[in-house]
Amino acid sequence: MNSKPDVRDWFPSEDGNPVQRERMMELIEQLVRGVDELKNPDGVNLKGEKQRDPDFYGQLAAQSFIPHEGAPLREVNTELLKLLHGHPYHTKYFFTNILPMASIPGMLGMLTAMLVNGNNLWDVYGPAGAEAEVRVTAMMSKLVGYDAKTSGGYTTWGGQGAVFSGLRIAIAKYAPDALKRGVPNNLYAFCSEAAHYSLLKSLEATGIGSDHLIKVRTLPDSSMDVADLKHKMEKVAMTGGVPVYIVGTTGTTDAIGIDDIGQIRAAAEETAERFGLPCPHIHADSALGGFFAFFNDYDLEQNPLGFSRGVLAMLAPIRQKLRMLSLADSLCFDFQKLGQAPYVSSLFLVKNASDLRLLDLGADETPYVGHRGYGDYHTGYTLECSRMASSISMYSLLLSFGVEGYQRLLAQFLEVNLRFRQSMAAEIPQADIANPDNTGISTLIRIYLPGGPRFAEEIGGTCSALDIERNNRLNELLFEKLGERRDRMFFGDTKKHLLVGTAEGREIPLYVSKFFVISPHTQPEHVPEIVQYLKECVSEVCEAFSLSTAK
Ligand SMILES: *Cc1c(COP(=O)(O)O)cnc(C)c1O
Repeated sequence: MNSKPDVRDWFPSEDGNPVQRERMMELIEQLVRGVDELKNPDGVNLKGEKQRDPDFYGQLAAQSFIPHEGAPLREVNTELLKLLHGHPYHTKYFFTNILPMASIPGMLGMLTAMLVNGNNLWDVYGPAGAEAEVRVTAMMSKLVGYDAKTSGGYTTWGGQGAVFSGLRIAIAKYAPDALKRGVPNNLYAFCSEAAHYSLLKSLEATGIGSDHLIKVRTLPDSSMDVADLKHKMEKVAMTGGVPVYIVGTTGTTDAIGIDDIGQIRAAAEETAERFGLPCPHIHADSALGGFFAFFNDYDLEQNPLGFSRGVLAMLAPIRQKLRMLSLADSLCFDFQKLGQAPYVSSLFLVKNASDLRLLDLGADETPYVGHRGYGDYHTGYTLECSRMASSISMYSLLLSFGVEGYQRLLAQFLEVNLRFRQSMAAEIPQADIANPDNTGISTLIRIYLPGGPRFAEEIGGTCSALDIERNNRLNELLFEKLGERRDRMFFGDTKKHLLVGTAEGREIPLYVSKFFVISPHTQPEHVPEIVQYLKECVSEVCEAFSLSTAK
C-alpha cells in the first residue's frame, strides 16, 4: 500500500514548490521532445508505424480496457506519443484545407487557461477567461469596425457554432416567443451554394428543417449572386414565408470566394421593406476569411512591410470586401483557423450586444450560477453551459503577433500561393486554376486532356454533360494519385466546386484538387519543387487516362 503514489502527485502543487514543478516540466519536456524526435521535414507525416487496416478500429475496441492499476506518468506519456505515430504534421508539404498548426503563443494561452482551469460559465468561476474574452471581443470589434461599447460576443464551438448562434438570434428577433412556444413554420434562411454546411445543420437542429434553407446561386468567383438572393427572398415572401436569416460567406472554405455584405444588406433591406417585414439577421460567416481584416488599415501605397506587387494586387480586392464586415449583424473569427490557435477557439461577435439578451435565460432558470458577478458579465445566452477559456489563447495570440504579425504571416501565405499559380501556369499546361478570381490562400486545380473543353468553356454553360463528367473522372484520378502519396505532399480536393450548367440544361459540380497554403513552413522558395511534384503526378494521370479511354 505504501508504494502507491500520493494522489496529490497527479496534480500541480498547492504551494508552488519547485519539486512538483520540476516533475511537471520534465513530463512536458518528454512530450515536446518526443514529438520533435518524430518529425520528418521531408514528408508530411510524423515518423512511426501505423497499420490502419479495415478492422483497425474494431481491434482497438476489442483490445481496450481500463487498467486496474494506473501507470507512472512517464510510461503513459510513452503511450501518448505512440498515438502521434504517422500523424499528419504541418511541414512545408502540408497543403490540405484550413487545418493550421497551433502556434506557440496559442498553446501558451491554452496552457495558462489550464493551469487554473477556470470555467467561463460565470466570471466568478473563470475571471481570467472572462477578462480575456471581454478584451478580445473589444479588440476584434474595433478591428472590423464595430463599436466596442455596444458590440458583444463570446467564445464558442467553432464557426459552425457561430452560424448556429446567429440563427438563434435571427429566430428570436422575428419571433421572441419562439423560445417558449417553438419555432413558427414559415421561417427561411439563405446562403450561397458555396457556403459551409453549418447553416444546413443549424436548420436541422433548430427544427426549422433544411427544406427551409434556400441556396443562392454563386457567381464564377464563388461569391453569392445577390440578384438571385433578392429574387429568392421575394419568392419566399410572396408565398407567406419570412426570410429571417442570411449567411454571407466572407471567405468560402474551398475557393475563398467573398460575398459582398454591402450588397446583401441592401437587398435584404429593400425586400423587407417591400413586404413589410423586419430585415433578416445578417451573419457574415467570416470564420475563415475574417482574419484578412487585419489588412483593413494597411497602407497599400506606402507598403510599410514591403510586400510584393503581386501580393498587394491580391490584397486590394480582398480588403474592399472585408471592409464591409461591419455591415453584418454578427460574424465570427475562427482562431482555430487563420488565428493560429489550438482547437476549440472561435469567437462569435454581435454588432449589438443587446441582441444576446433575446436568448438569455432568467435568473430562476440558472440556479447553478450565482448572479453576483463582478460586472455585467453573464452568459446565460450561450448554448454551452461550462465553457473553456479559449479567449486566453486568443489574447495571447493578439498580443504576440500584433496587427503586423498577422499581416506578415497572411502575406506570406499569399506570396506562396501567388508563386504557385505562376509556376503552375508555366509548368503544367494540362492544369487550369478553377478559382482564378479569388486571390486568397488557396488554388483550385482542374486538369484537362488535350482537345476537350477547358475551364473557361465549362463555366460558360455550353459544354456537354459528357465532357464535364469525363473531366471530372480525370480529376478524380488525380485525387487518387495525390491521395496515395499524401505522406510525401498533402493536397486537398473537393467534388463540389462551382455548379456549372451543361448544354443539356443540367447542373454539374466540378471536381478540383486543392493547394491550400496553411503551413508557416511553406516558403516561396519551396514552390518550384512542389510544382515539379504535381507535374509528375498530372503527367502520370493523364497518360493512364488516355490509355484507358483509348482501349
Ligand atoms: C470552417 C468553416 C466553418 C466551420 O467552422 P468550425 O470552426 O469547423 O465549426 C464555417 N464556415 C466557414 C466559411 C468555414 O470555413
